[in-house]
Amino acid sequence: MIKQWALDVLTCPKCSGKLTNVQEGVQCEQCAITYPYQNGILRCVEMDNYAESFGFQWNFFKKTQHDSANEYAHSTRRFKAETGWEENDLSGNIVLDGGCGNGRFTEIALKMGAKVIALDLSNAVETCYSNMSEAGFSDEDFLVVQASFYEMPIKENSLDKAFTLGVLQHTPNPRLSLEKIAALVKHDGDIACWVYEKNWKMWMDYRYYFRTVTKYLSKNANWKLSLFLTHTFFPLAWFLNKYFGFPGKLISRVFLPIAFRRVHSSMGYADSKTWTLLDTFDNLSPRYDLPISEKEMFRWLEASGFTDIVRQNTPGLAVKALKK
Ligand SMILES: [Zn+2]
Repeated sequence: MIKQWALDVLTCPKCSGKLTNVQEGVQCEQCAITYPYQNGILRCVEMDNYAESFGFQWNFFKKTQHDSANEYAHSTRRFKAETGWEENDLSGNIVLDGGCGNGRFTEIALKMGAKVIALDLSNAVETCYSNMSEAGFSDEDFLVVQASFYEMPIKENSLDKAFTLGVLQHTPNPRLSLEKIAALVKHDGDIACWVYEKNWKMWMDYRYYFRTVTKYLSKNANWKLSLFLTHTFFPLAWFLNKYFGFPGKLISRVFLPIAFRRVHSSMGYADSKTWTLLDTFDNLSPRYDLPISEKEMFRWLEASGFTDIVRQNTPGLAVKALKK
């Protein structure tokens, strides 16, 4: 049974009819379609899709970036910096995590007292559900949904907040994805987005050269390539980043074809290598990688009825806005 607070904001993605609990899931009173609800997950898409690489990635690196499973608190720092929200801002709110993956930010929002709809297109939703349960959250407070941004089972103008961190650029139409999410937020509610920024600096990043080829490769080929690149270049990257200060970091960033990650001064070699492998695969394998400029983001949010649009002072393009 889907709990009442969630049912109140759900709707049939096909016809916008009212959904009610039935034995196998929820059923639309208008068109009679039943959407299965099993093992804590509401399914509105049937099979794998362009997000397959993310399904693999988030199931493999199940808890790597989860604050509940390490001591770096990196996801909490990112969440606060990119959304501008603090503890009390989310308390009692119904919040969408748009593109939740395996739930690294879902757990932060839950911890801050929100009721969360964690939505993703990939089969990472399964890991998201088990991760939240294992981190001790009750599924009274969250609902995991597998759906596309273009057909979400959520009512327009119904949510207190929505956030989507690192996701829009990986959809086939980032503007439409943003509009669909923006439509779900209620008046006086707010939205927070973090995306890859379109600017001259992106051309210093190896990924956009590699991606001209890798976006056509299979998930398995990209995985093998990411393993090869990480094993080959990580030792040098570690050395440069750890012992050569800013020049070392710059050389590593511009010349080495891996996504070097060391998110905390206490992070050791092995963890740093795992995070680097994760993000190297994350750079090379997505079907879509369409960065967005600040101007575009502001324009799209304005067109969706948002005001008080603010860019956060943090790496990447993080923007927060209020719905009129
Ligand atoms: Zn319907």
